[in-house]
Amino acid sequence: MIPGARLIILGRQGAGKGTQCVRLSRHFVVPHISTGDMLRSAVREGTPLGKMAKAVMDAGGLVGDDIMVGIVEERLNRDDARTRGYILDGFPRTVGQAHELDRITAGRPIDVVLDLDVPRELVLERISSRRVCRDCGTNYVASGAERTPWICEVCGGDVMQRDDDTPDAINRRLDLYEEQTSPLIEYYGSAGRLVVVDGVGTPDRVFALLTAAVDAARRS
Ligand code: ADP
Repeated sequence: MIPGARLIILGRQGAGKGTQCVRLSRHFVVPHISTGDMLRSAVREGTPLGKMAKAVMDAGGLVGDDIMVGIVEERLNRDDARTRGYILDGFPRTVGQAHELDRITAGRPIDVVLDLDVPRELVLERISSRRVCRDCGTNYVASGAERTPWICEVCGGDVMQRDDDTPDAINRRLDLYEEQTSPLIEYYGSAGRLVVVDGVGTPDRVFALLTAAVDAARRS
């Protein structure tokens, strides 16, 4: 049997976390827990959480730590995550969230924190051509030659540009990443829990680097 894994993935918007998480989730047979996907589905369903989160997300801001910690704690306590593990994407995003995650995972600590490193100039380019299936979250790259409506080849859902992939919101999110999320690199790095992986390269190459990093961390 393939052993599960408890992983966190950090990286700028557009670094390729979404694409790599789908593969990592299949490879380690663990759920891909994306706080962004969870919030977007709450927005679509029009739940109280979704109504509150929509304005914050469209402006490129961050949803409050208390709310996010509650959502993640509940999700990590479900059976699949407790037994196999998970790949956590989009959380933690602040040092406060990282402290709370240490508390939540005290009994089952994470194996490794992966930092998917791609320079800011490159992610800006990638995000402006990013399109996403609103139902299953599969990422696509727009060439301008697509038919509309654009239908997802995986699930048949609508492929669209995210509401928060406008230039202003992207820049705001990247600024917030430097301010709030990049301190996590120091937080996990100084605890010896971080592996930085070069995210520039083909998806296959990046995936090979990520799985090698997880295997090495588990052997040590
Ligand atoms: P991106 O990495 O491109 O910003 P995500 O899909 O991870 O996209 O998240 C989309 C939005 O959801 C964020 O810009 C933020 O508003 C909100 N969000 C997601 N995760 C968190 C979190 N851990 N804390 C606060 N807000 C979050």
